[in-house]
Amino acid sequence: MDRDRACQVYSILESLYGGPDSPRTFLVFENPFQILVLTILSARTTDRSVNAIRDTLFSRYPGPGDLAAADPQDVEEIIRPLGFYREKARRVIGASREIVDRFSGCVPGMMEDLLTLPGVGRKTANIVLDHAFGVQEGVAVDTHVARLSRRLGFSSRKDPAGIERDLMALFPKDAWGNLNYLLIRHGRAVCTARKPSCTTCPLGDLCPSGNGCMTKKPVRRGRSTGGP
Ligand code: SF4
Repeated sequence: MDRDRACQVYSILESLYGGPDSPRTFLVFENPFQILVLTILSARTTDRSVNAIRDTLFSRYPGPGDLAAADPQDVEEIIRPLGFYREKARRVIGASREIVDRFSGCVPGMMEDLLTLPGVGRKTANIVLDHAFGVQEGVAVDTHVARLSRRLGFSSRKDPAGIERDLMALFPKDAWGNLNYLLIRHGRAVCTARKPSCTTCPLGDLCPSGNGCMTKKPVRRGRSTGGP
């Protein structure tokens, strides 16, 4: 997809989901430490589940120093509903220790520093930088962003790093943070993984997978668009 069409898609998504009351994030947080921890915990679960344990977790462990000194079993018990709780507890405690030991107890605001923390890849780092620091270094690519990027023809790649590079080349930098939010909203509401609503989708005229995407042949140079 060329830039003009990509911008048309973006404008439609913005008109659908980007109103002034738009939260632009799905996790409820108050500071960089909270958005970092919650984003690490959000792997392979829903934002709603993560938001449900946040009060318990942060009332007991309000800052990096508190979580760095936590009993892992206590953290595991709090986050157990999220699944993979042992690994996730290890990651958030580990990240907190690194923040205390190497960053004076403050979540770092640079990509290269964030990527040194346990459990932090580019997706998490992009979310933290955008929402906590207002810095856009890239596009956070989760399962919704990856799926929609392929269906919409933004990228033909499967790996998140490659998809992110394609999105960064296609969209202006000031759209990178919002793009994540808009694609997730559309992925949840219309372009779902199992049953995309192509017949009623406002992007149907622009989407190479639309107008019967469950059966339509791929359109990009003979390679799969990753459509369903
Ligand atoms: S037309 Fe279909 S595949 Fe394309 S964005 Fe809309 S729901 Fe998704």
